[in-house]
Amino acid sequence: MRLDELIQKVEAARLKRSEHLIVQIVAVTKYTEDIEPLKRLYNEGQRAFGENRIQVMEKKVDALKDYPIEWHFIGNLQKNKINKLLSLNPFMIQSINSYEIAEAVDKRAKKPVRCLLEINSAGEDSKQGLAVEEAVETYLKIKENLNNINLQGVMTIGAHIDDEKEIRKSFRLTYEIFDKLKPYGAKICSMGMSGDFEIAIQEGSNMIRVGSALLNSYL
Ligand SMILES: *Cc1c(COP(=O)(O)O)cnc(C)c1O
Repeated sequence: MRLDELIQKVEAARLKRSEHLIVQIVAVTKYTEDIEPLKRLYNEGQRAFGENRIQVMEKKVDALKDYPIEWHFIGNLQKNKINKLLSLNPFMIQSINSYEIAEAVDKRAKKPVRCLLEINSAGEDSKQGLAVEEAVETYLKIKENLNNINLQGVMTIGAHIDDEKEIRKSFRLTYEIFDKLKPYGAKICSMGMSGDFEIAIQEGSNMIRVGSALLNSYL
């Protein structure tokens, strides 16, 4: 779908939740190594892009360095790639999925980096992220101890299943954690992808990460 159409769908979904809810769209461009689709999206107003592979991201950051783009890293972060990622100066790392990784980023960063704590809200073994029960405690521990991790909120991938009730449940659990963390400065609740962003927004998401549904129209 085109960006305009996505924006209209987001608009309808957010009004079902609250007229005060503002939802940011991160266009996930990990499916292409070509920068033309990103330029097309940029020309229609898109500014936030999500990538999950550092090498591919590096090429795009380099090719688009004259564009005021916000780069969001959404992939599983390996320790030996952290320095490379930091050198790209990402706007935000959405995939801090353990205290250990937060510590590793903190140690290597020369200034505070915006980050989200990834939560494994569906409890699926195949997924990264903190268990729901550990999320609040870990978030507060990072905040307390790691000065270069500027935690801004939480991120999750919804349950990978066709059952809307289960998907909704994983978003609801994540929103509950977000709600508990608001007094500690959490502002972003990043949840919802191509197949489930409308459900995520109804459950309170204020940042969606949409890839395939959007990118197909720009390749
Ligand atoms: C790939 C990916 C997305 C986008 O997924 P689509 O289903 O293509 O919209 C969002 N978030 C993360 C963490 C991803 O890896």
